[in-house]
Amino acid sequence: MNRPTVSLIEGDGIGPEVTAATLRAIEAAGGQLVWERVDAGAGAVAAHGDPLPAATIASIQRTQLALKAPLATPSGGGYRSVNVTLRQHFDLYANVRPAQTMAGVPSRFTDVDMVIVRENTEDLYAGIEHYIDPRRTAAESIAIITRFGSERVIVYAFEYARRHGRRKITLVHKANILKMSNGLFLDTGREVAKRYPEIEFDDMIVDATAMRMVTQPERFDVIVTMNLFGDILSDLAAGLIGGLGVAPASNIGAAAPGERPCAMFEAVHGTAPDIAGKGIANPTGLMLSAAMLLDHVEQREAANRLRAGVAAALANAETRTGDLGGRANTAQFTDAVIRAMA
Ligand code: NAD
Repeated sequence: MNRPTVSLIEGDGIGPEVTAATLRAIEAAGGQLVWERVDAGAGAVAAHGDPLPAATIASIQRTQLALKAPLATPSGGGYRSVNVTLRQHFDLYANVRPAQTMAGVPSRFTDVDMVIVRENTEDLYAGIEHYIDPRRTAAESIAIITRFGSERVIVYAFEYARRHGRRKITLVHKANILKMSNGLFLDTGREVAKRYPEIEFDDMIVDATAMRMVTQPERFDVIVTMNLFGDILSDLAAGLIGGLGVAPASNIGAAAPGERPCAMFEAVHGTAPDIAGKGIANPTGLMLSAAMLLDHVEQREAANRLRAGVAAALANAETRTGDLGGRANTAQFTDAVIRAMA
């Protein structure tokens, strides 16, 4: 089997602990990957004087694949944000966040199984803002929506749905008020949808979506939306399944014709400095991100085994980690994931 090389960023805080656990679980699941360890974050500042050394960028450029544990953004020193730099450098335009109810993860909701695909480069986050008067009594931020940016993320959402056997795309917008910018996103979605007749397509106003996600989460399958709404709704979706601690994510970049796009996989939670080094961190978020990576490189069987192992370990209080009310530490949880895959 072809063994893709993956740039591995172990990260800061609990990063190395959840990374070590995830590598054990991937191997046990039969994932065939070669790791290229590279530095980023606060640890990289100590070693290289830069939170994102050139060698790390060069590695991802070569591999087009990265698994990234959480990074501490060094405060002071004027360092650029690693996440922003990676997003810009590799044009990571689609942020993909699945949210699925898991037995053993406390939540107010059941039957949640949705994926939020968020456009990651445009909209109000394009960074165009200024005060409009010298006394700074008013400020203006400009949202950029382009047909190009809309089309590529909407196409990605449809292709994702097709690959993962998902039936329906809901495009979320505010085109009733923002008739031009959001209208352009909606019109583009309607055009793209015609190319995928086997996938159901509808659209929904963002405020109604927020309410329906809470009152009727099971009606959603794949949501595709712009940057600002996606930022908010993806955390809302994580809240529906018990919080950010167990949520996986991927960031997908643009591909040159005939080439594989750059893809970066990461847990949504942070470096948890309060528990770092204690051996009690929950590696679920990074393990589920690794399963997304295995899907991405067409190692579906290993991905499904890994997800099933995590689900089994989470379902039992003896093998869940303490943050979820369980009694296991990181190693015991990982042992249980691996046992369940045997
Ligand atoms: P955090 O997610 O690190 O921690 C919030 C709370 O959740 C803490 O009590 C922590 O112990 C707990 N927690 C988080 N992940 C856990 C896990 N896997 N297992 C068990 N408990 C877990 O958020 P924060 O405290 O706001 O941020 C801490 C640092 O992480 C900051 O430097 C921030 O910049 C960074 N951060 C990085 C990323 C990233 O690299 N993707 C994302 C968010 C925050």
